[in-house]
Amino acid sequence: MAARDRYSRKLECSKCGRSGFAEASEDDDPRRKNPGFQVDEMPAGFSVERPSNDPAKFMVRCRCGNVFAFRQKTYYPPGGEPS
Ligand SMILES: [Zn+2]
Repeated sequence: MAARDRYSRKLECSKCGRSGFAEASEDDDPRRKNPGFQVDEMPAGFSVERPSNDPAKFMVRCRCGNVFAFRQKTYYPPGGEPS
C-alpha cells in the first residue's frame, strides 16, 4: 500500500471571514493519475457540501451559507502566510 501524504490547508470564507485548518490526505504514489485526495477533518464551522477526489472540485460550505472550492484561488507566498 502506498503511504498517505497528510497535510493541512487553511480554509477561508470570503463572505464572513471565518477560517480554519482542514486536515487532508493524498496517496503519495506518483504512478497514480488520481492522487486519491480526501479531507479527513473539517474545521469548526465548515462542512462538506460535495466531496470529490479533486481538491479543485471538492466543495466546502461555511456556516454562513457560502459554498466554495477546497482549493481556492487565493495563494499564499512561498514560506507561508503573510504575517
Ligand atoms: Zn462564511
